[in-house]
Amino acid sequence: MSKINRVPGYMQSKGNRNRGPIGDREIRYKCSMQNTILDVLRARPGWQEVSGTTGASSSGGTTSAKTSTQNSTPSNQATGSATTSSKSSDGDWDFYWCDREWLHANYDTMFLQEHQKILHFRNHYELTRKNLMVKNLKRLRKQTEREMGKKEAESFDFFPTTYELPSEYHIFVEEFKKNPGIIWIMKPAAKSQGRGIFLFRKLKDITDWKKGEYQPLTDPNREVPETYVVQRYIEDPYLIGGRKFDIRVYVLVVSYNPLKVWLYRSGFARFSNSRFSLDSIEDAYVHLTNVAVQKTAPDYDPDKGCKWATQQLRQYLTAKHSADAARKVFQGIDNIIIKSLQSVQKIIINDKHCFEMYGYDVLLDANLKPWLIEINASPSLTASGKDDYDLKYGVLNDVLNVLDLENRLTGKEKRVGGFDLIWDDGPVLADDGSMECSVNGTSTTANSFLGCHCERKKQLREIYTAAQALKKTAVS
Ligand code: ADP
Repeated sequence: MSKINRVPGYMQSKGNRNRGPIGDREIRYKCSMQNTILDVLRARPGWQEVSGTTGASSSGGTTSAKTSTQNSTPSNQATGSATTSSKSSDGDWDFYWCDREWLHANYDTMFLQEHQKILHFRNHYELTRKNLMVKNLKRLRKQTEREMGKKEAESFDFFPTTYELPSEYHIFVEEFKKNPGIIWIMKPAAKSQGRGIFLFRKLKDITDWKKGEYQPLTDPNREVPETYVVQRYIEDPYLIGGRKFDIRVYVLVVSYNPLKVWLYRSGFARFSNSRFSLDSIEDAYVHLTNVAVQKTAPDYDPDKGCKWATQQLRQYLTAKHSADAARKVFQGIDNIIIKSLQSVQKIIINDKHCFEMYGYDVLLDANLKPWLIEINASPSLTASGKDDYDLKYGVLNDVLNVLDLENRLTGKEKRVGGFDLIWDDGPVLADDGSMECSVNGTSTTANSFLGCHCERKKQLREIYTAAQALKKTAVS
């Protein structure tokens, strides 16, 4: 490896040979995606693409900020990885940003070496399939109520009433009849980007639609229908400028046992293109905030986009309501993150080689209560504009900084770039108990700063310098 290629702080101390399993050589990576993550990996000093084996390499050229931004390929779409999968389990890589399809096809036959890191836990779908997420949350809520009482179980009241169809059709019908006139939303359990979603008020709307599919199967030869969830629609979303939005939050889990969770300070609010109204429940541009849906609106303006940075949202809520009200919103989101991860902690197959970068979707209602809508294991990494590209580039770089394959950190850090450690086998407290957040002056003891300022580059310089100094002292 040439000196020029070295990561600053990477293998600084010649005396310290016990620096990690990769040793002195470059870090070899594979990547199934052709978007921002590939740009990040290619730009990372000391990292080397495993030639001929990444999905990306089939495209020939490099992806630049421009090409990634323009690329409309959804990030969770495999890009040629299937054809390369057989070569990849031979241990020729240190880091693999793989897609879920590759993982499912190869996990059982794959032997990972000590130093290898791979995206996704094997059964991540326990949290990221809409029906399983709710099933796991309901189970932990029940258990909490049994062991700790009703009051404690109320902290799980952050997901709308949901049933799986067709298996819970009869319970749903009972619930439906108890609440005449309310709106429900139907969502395919395993689809994304708003595909197959519709709203309804009348039971007839779903019994007419695909007639019979949600009735219990009596004919054993009939094909199993696609699993859906039916969920209570949040009819009173918090609106800004008359528009509905949801919040994308990035969460990095590096271990389930013990649970270790990092929360990224930045993210965005995704707004719908049209003003909110309950008059037109069939209008996806009003009710679904997915960018994939919104950008097909006839009057969608790509330059204006439909996103706000989470910082902007926090500032808005602070100015409009109070610092305290804004703080409560973000504390509520912390609670959603931790409780949801705990609900699968014993189910996810923990593996020290695996990590997960989740994209949480959270909706606020008119009372500023945050609701969990869904959790993505492959949040879109394709940028919709320059700011979006910069955000995603920063998040992904900081994922690699936290994973620290270069062994530049001490391992005791509570903040790495834009990521704050919020759970490490228990809640993590902020160092000085004070809120660093420039938006509100109130203090909190939790090490959680969603929507707070994020000077990640400056912070990285500081921690790397501090870690180097510490390592030098330890060696001398
Ligand atoms: P997908 O995986 O297809 O994106 P989501 O569950 O994220 O499905 O739903 C898509 C969009 O629909 C969300 O971003 C949100 O705007 C809206 N939505 C979903 N569920 C609800 C709900 N229960 N109440 C209000 N809006 C919802």
